[in-house]
Amino acid sequence: MKNNNRISKKEGLRLLRKTDLLQLGRMADEMRKGLHPGDIVTFIVDRNINYTNVCINRCRFCAFWRDENDPEAYLLERGDLFKKIEETIQMGGTQILIQGGLHPKLDISYFLSLLKDIKNRFDINVHGFSPPEICYMADKSDLTVQETLHLLRDAGLDSMPGGGAEILSDRVREILSPRKIKSDKWLKVMEQAHKLGMKTTATMMFGSIEKAEDIIEHLDAVRNLQDKTGGFTAFIPWSFQPGNTELAKSLERRVKRDDLAHKIHPATAVEYLRILAFSRIYLDNIKNIQASWVTQGLKLAQVALRFGANDFGSTMLEENVIASTGISYRVSKEDIIKAIRDTGFNPAQRNTYYKILRYF
Ligand code: SF4
Repeated sequence: MKNNNRISKKEGLRLLRKTDLLQLGRMADEMRKGLHPGDIVTFIVDRNINYTNVCINRCRFCAFWRDENDPEAYLLERGDLFKKIEETIQMGGTQILIQGGLHPKLDISYFLSLLKDIKNRFDINVHGFSPPEICYMADKSDLTVQETLHLLRDAGLDSMPGGGAEILSDRVREILSPRKIKSDKWLKVMEQAHKLGMKTTATMMFGSIEKAEDIIEHLDAVRNLQDKTGGFTAFIPWSFQPGNTELAKSLERRVKRDDLAHKIHPATAVEYLRILAFSRIYLDNIKNIQASWVTQGLKLAQVALRFGANDFGSTMLEENVIASTGISYRVSKEDIIKAIRDTGFNPAQRNTYYKILRYF
């Protein structure tokens, strides 16, 4: 699906900086229409299961992590995890998204037995473990990334979420999440997963300290890898939610000599729409762009459908990571169907691979 009229990095930078919001929206909407005739907007019924909040990375933009001995630290019991999967299936769910922090006591054997136990009990797509988790499992167990992915896939891992990308610019990563894997590692894990035949998504978290050039660097890296592998099913841009994070505390101390605080610029609704529309235009080889109602709310997600998005993401029967920042939009499947319909689109439930399961 590579476009012969593809825009270059230089043209992209100009477009992102100078183009009027509505013009960007119109361009993105045209592209969305071409890729998704019939005005269909999809969503998936699934649940986020965060197996642990213990994490050694301590990223400065994250409100979810806890130290191992923190009173709020947890590691889900297997029985509780199975119960969550049962509930998901009862509600018509087809996927679970399993993600967690980098827990120092868990190695590859924990994850292999977890996956086998899930697959022995349930018929559900396991979408799990972002590249930082994969690299940590590999390191802890003295395996290569490729060996780790092989083992996980054979134990039942079906596909992978694109978390941990934030901004694929090491200048930004060095400040936001210095302990996290760097951009080339994130891309390498995705490339190897794609080579094994696993589909993944790609994400981008903006609205912290990045510049327009960093956004271009991120989108260009994703577009180049997609040219090579074709393994990304969707792109999900979402904006940094400062609540309860170390970065937010920097914002509060802004009057002091805190350089970082002066660089943070949480995204407005207009900026969200600009980046969303621009992503649709730049990523000419990725078919699906998700609106993020979890971070933007249902109403802005409706507007996003005219700014390039063709998918409403997940019904999120459970969500913990964004909720820990104090942002919590609770919506039902019916709310999502109504929101899509009210915007003039035709709602449809899909599976992980964007195959339509049911029209409404
Ligand atoms: S973003 Fe992920 S890796 Fe970073 S602290 Fe939070 S849970 Fe850990």
